[in-house]
Amino acid sequence: MAIIMDGKALSNQIIENIKDKVSNLDTKPGLAVILVGEAPASAVYVKNKEKQALNAGFHSFIHKLPENTTKEELLSLIEKLNNDNDIDGILLQLPLPKRLSAYDFLDKIDPKKDVDGFHPINSGKLITGETPYALACTPKGIIRILDEYKIPISGKNAVIIGRSNIVGKPLSMLLLNRNATVTIAHSKTKNLPDITKNADILISATGKENMVTKDMVKNGAAVIDVGIIRDNSGKLRGDVDFDNVKEIAGHITPVPGGIGPMTIASLMENTLELYNLHKAKL
Ligand code: NAD
Repeated sequence: MAIIMDGKALSNQIIENIKDKVSNLDTKPGLAVILVGEAPASAVYVKNKEKQALNAGFHSFIHKLPENTTKEELLSLIEKLNNDNDIDGILLQLPLPKRLSAYDFLDKIDPKKDVDGFHPINSGKLITGETPYALACTPKGIIRILDEYKIPISGKNAVIIGRSNIVGKPLSMLLLNRNATVTIAHSKTKNLPDITKNADILISATGKENMVTKDMVKNGAAVIDVGIIRDNSGKLRGDVDFDNVKEIAGHITPVPGGIGPMTIASLMENTLELYNLHKAKL
């Protein structure tokens, strides 16, 4: 039976630690979150981020813009926040309404305020092995929980299902930088179970319920479930068939209570790191 990796407890511990550090500061780190439109899932995520930012002792600034916000209006808000000394981190909640392309905005956020690590300068630094100003939050949280549970990474086979810019691609670089042998699978991958059965570390980030079943998992593997799916009864589920996979995995993250809270903890860590960077420059 697998060890359940408790992302909620670890996240609370990380945020408590940040709170202690912040209580000794003269000023407070400032996190600005921009939400465009009314997508219910995004509204829940933003509320959660605000709650934890306040809990950590930060200033939290939520900018809720209407669904019909123009490109110029959003660019103007980003520029204002870039120039605001009270703001250390800027997060543009994705996805944006279909009319707007994230690519038109993510590279306009000051890379030193890019708390999500999505600016091309930060993703470029990750690829070349330099230290980005901030690391993408979900991949950072995944590495943190693997380390917490002392899962060896170097020389291990890591398989990631999902190739998004926010999870699969940056995570592949982090695992590669830690000397894993990394395979990225996606919707066009053939014979997926043959690939996943080789994984010492299996990460699923597809948003498809029951994407990972017991027959796809190697005995003793660490299984990380990034997926967030709301089922018909309104319950949150992940990609992994948790009840059956936990019978053979060595470690497994639950949904909820796994990678979701780790992502928020990473966001808080990034905000404090960017605050320290800005203070060091003053
Ligand atoms: P996305 O929706 O941009 O992409 C999904 C990926 O899954 C694609 O690369 C696609 O190729 C792959 N995929 C889809 N069907 C597949 C199949 N049948 N076989 C193999 N691969 C398949 O992904 P995203 O934005 O990275 O989000 C993925 C999931 O993770 C969603 O459920 C999202 O809500 C969740 N998520 C959770 C957190 C968190 O904090 N826990 C953070 C980010 C995303």
